[in-house]
Amino acid sequence: MIIKPKVRGFICTTAHPVGCREHVREQIEYVKANKPAGSGPKNVLVIGCSNGYGLASRIAAAFGYGANTLGVMFEKEPTEKRTASAGWYNTKAFESFAHEAGVYARSFNVDAFSNEAKAAVIEAAKSELGPIDLVIYSLGSPRRTDPNTGITHSSSLKAIGEPVTRKNLNTDTRQVGEFTLEPANDEEIANTIKVMGGEDWELWMEALVEAGVLADGVKTTAFSYIGKELTWPIYGGATIGRAKQDVDRACKVIAQRLKPLNGSAHVSVLKAVVTQSSSAIPVMPLYLSILIKVMKEQGTNEGCIEQVNGLFNNELYADSALTLDEEGRIRMDLNELKPEVQDQVAAIWEEVDSDNLDEKADFAAYQEEFFRLFGFGYSNVDYDQDVDPIV
Ligand code: NAD
Repeated sequence: MIIKPKVRGFICTTAHPVGCREHVREQIEYVKANKPAGSGPKNVLVIGCSNGYGLASRIAAAFGYGANTLGVMFEKEPTEKRTASAGWYNTKAFESFAHEAGVYARSFNVDAFSNEAKAAVIEAAKSELGPIDLVIYSLGSPRRTDPNTGITHSSSLKAIGEPVTRKNLNTDTRQVGEFTLEPANDEEIANTIKVMGGEDWELWMEALVEAGVLADGVKTTAFSYIGKELTWPIYGGATIGRAKQDVDRACKVIAQRLKPLNGSAHVSVLKAVVTQSSSAIPVMPLYLSILIKVMKEQGTNEGCIEQVNGLFNNELYADSALTLDEEGRIRMDLNELKPEVQDQVAAIWEEVDSDNLDEKADFAAYQEEFFRLFGFGYSNVDYDQDVDPIV
């Protein structure tokens, strides 16, 4: 099959197996070149392991610290006629690099919200892995079926209170227009919390504690985003922000639960990056196109792997104590929030339009990163070559 990108709105419906392998290989190379000084995790569980921040976490654990990893993902398998989703190819590539390096890696393609997923991981931890000393929670999902009620809840990207209108970039047409987020009703807010809040992280940790598969001193972290004025009305101050507040709540409960194990739980706030999840959030593509330009000019731009490798080496497994904000969160987003970055992004935001998009923002860099998520745009991959979609 000759595989080319097919973009539908904010998603690419095809993925390139060789390109995805390259996407993973590049991140492994980065981690190897930026190795930690000290010791780190031995047995790691990554929930949401196949893309974005979760994939980067798995790579940082396995190739920075030689950790064994269990991964949970929800990805589309390939057929003769249809490519797999990118996360499937990423995971196959990760596993093959890990096995080549003699590092244990096993992945479960299963709904992480289900009881079955938890049971499968616990079984593998008991029979193959040994006590888990790090749990990364990095799910990005639009819906969740509650395993106790069987009810499927869908999240809403909506405002709280009043409607919010913001500049927005249509990534298909390259037109800068406006986007209005309607206010959510109480049910929509509750459903978004149900999907993207902390309940499932709590259920995972409870199941792992109950099963006795966590090591003494276990650490767990879930990822969050806060942002500042520009993204606040559509993220921090909107339904997603409410869900992230619930992750903060869950974190405190989990920290208490892990005390007898001398364990710890923290929310890690990470910077905005191009991922499948963030590209689906209105306003983010325009914000990211400007942010990437500004942070590149200031020499501080980072992607998933730089952020997560920094989180592991400089916070979670550093010799010094964690640097926490007043809410007890780890902050890897401080460069993004610096006034010299936010002020410049805000100034460009005022001026940017469809005609000056390439001059004011770096939409080319945004698009390049977007296509790379699906394995496209690597100069060392021959995209005219026939490849087998089944890996
Ligand atoms: P992503 O879309 O790149 O990856 C999501 C992962 O979740 C994939 O591995 C996918 O397979 C998995 N997944 C989704 N539904 C699942 C299910 N039902 N069962 C099992 N696996 C499932 O997402 P991302 O952008 O890396 O986001 C991960 C976390 O990081 C989220 O909590 C997000 O809020 C946070 N975060 C993201 C950004 C950003 O800019 N992208 C910034 C800060 C924090």
